[in-house]
Amino acid sequence: MTNDRLQKIAKDYGSPVYVYDAEKITSQYKRLTNAFKSVKTLKINYAVKALSNISILKLFKTLGSGIDTVSIQEVQLGLTAGFLPEQIIFTPNGVSLVEIEEAAKLGVQINIDNLAILEQFGTKHPNVPVCIRINPHVMAGGNSNISVGHIDSKFGISIHQIPHLLRIVENTKMTINGIHMHTGSDILDIDVFLYASEILFETAKQFKNLDFIDFGSGFKVPYKIGDIETNIEELGKKLSSKFNQFCKDYGKELTLAFEPGKFLVSESGTFLATVNAVKQTTSTVFAQIDSGFNHLIRPMFYGSHHDIINISNPSGRERFYTVVGYICETDTFGNNRRINEINEGDILCFKNAGAYCFSMASNYNSRYRPAEVLWYNKKAHLIRKRETFEDILKNQVEVDFTKIKEKEVVTAK
Ligand SMILES: *Cc1c(COP(=O)(O)O)cnc(C)c1O
Repeated sequence: MTNDRLQKIAKDYGSPVYVYDAEKITSQYKRLTNAFKSVKTLKINYAVKALSNISILKLFKTLGSGIDTVSIQEVQLGLTAGFLPEQIIFTPNGVSLVEIEEAAKLGVQINIDNLAILEQFGTKHPNVPVCIRINPHVMAGGNSNISVGHIDSKFGISIHQIPHLLRIVENTKMTINGIHMHTGSDILDIDVFLYASEILFETAKQFKNLDFIDFGSGFKVPYKIGDIETNIEELGKKLSSKFNQFCKDYGKELTLAFEPGKFLVSESGTFLATVNAVKQTTSTVFAQIDSGFNHLIRPMFYGSHHDIINISNPSGRERFYTVVGYICETDTFGNNRRINEINEGDILCFKNAGAYCFSMASNYNSRYRPAEVLWYNKKAHLIRKRETFEDILKNQVEVDFTKIKEKEVVTAK
């Protein structure tokens, strides 16, 4: 989006604000479906947790996408957005049997990644078909926090436990209709991914009633110039041909499923914040903005890089700045960044702010979470209002200490 357009949005909707470009979401979606066009039935389930605004979900619905959910609340959000239960897959980790049963009751596809839960669920509900999440034990991912396929990961059922899994299926007479893996974020090497897919195919052979194989996600997108990104087109070609061959051997046309979050929404998003002050210390020039890790935590939490641009002074002389927030802790967005000269009141633009940015925002320091705007069909649409003071107090219960007698206070220990 152009600087002028972003400036106008910041002016109209205030700062800080998240802005999403629907066109980019649509083109990423089409890029993915196009890469797998030789597969007969492809299902993309957008991972809601990346960016869970209901208008974004509705946009995905218009594209023909399903959704991947990790909590009962995300399931409810999806249903509220108009998705049919069969367009929703529930892929939680570490939730109770009760929550899984609740989701099953709503009619969504259940995905289980724990043998103890599988056994209990299969015993009680043998007629509900279940997908199983496998851990293929492949190390992939750009960051140890988000590599979820390795041996010590809490995610998935180990491939070494397949014999036990098969016994549970036999004893409970339950149906396994899907097989799934999600090896983590930031796949850099397609061969690693294909290697994991071979393991998934080998496992799939042992189940006779499959409808789909779900390869999860973890597609890497570029965060800065020169960054490696997952070559979706090459992956599409290679995996499609393996998948089609598998279906032939299996004797049934299965659905190939994916559930990307980051790939679909990361680049669509920008975060706009205003410079409150420029502070020169002995060694550093800080640009201090009206935000912090309460709004965008990825740089502090994962060490993620987000490009930062001064859209108020795009042709100004470049200088080095450390961009920080207003939270009363260290909250550095970027260290020693070369940015066009910054003055008080300038608007800084953070790139790749679509995925895991607003959805991880909080009220820390009792600040409001920002507004969200969707640029769709050449127009800005407000899709979330900025919070107000009522939101800060909402659900808090005030105790009237003047009405509690001193005696009660003493005896209430
Ligand atoms: C978070 C998550 C995804 C999305 O991962 P991205 O790296 O954003 O594409 C997919 N599947 C599951 C099960 C997840 O938990």
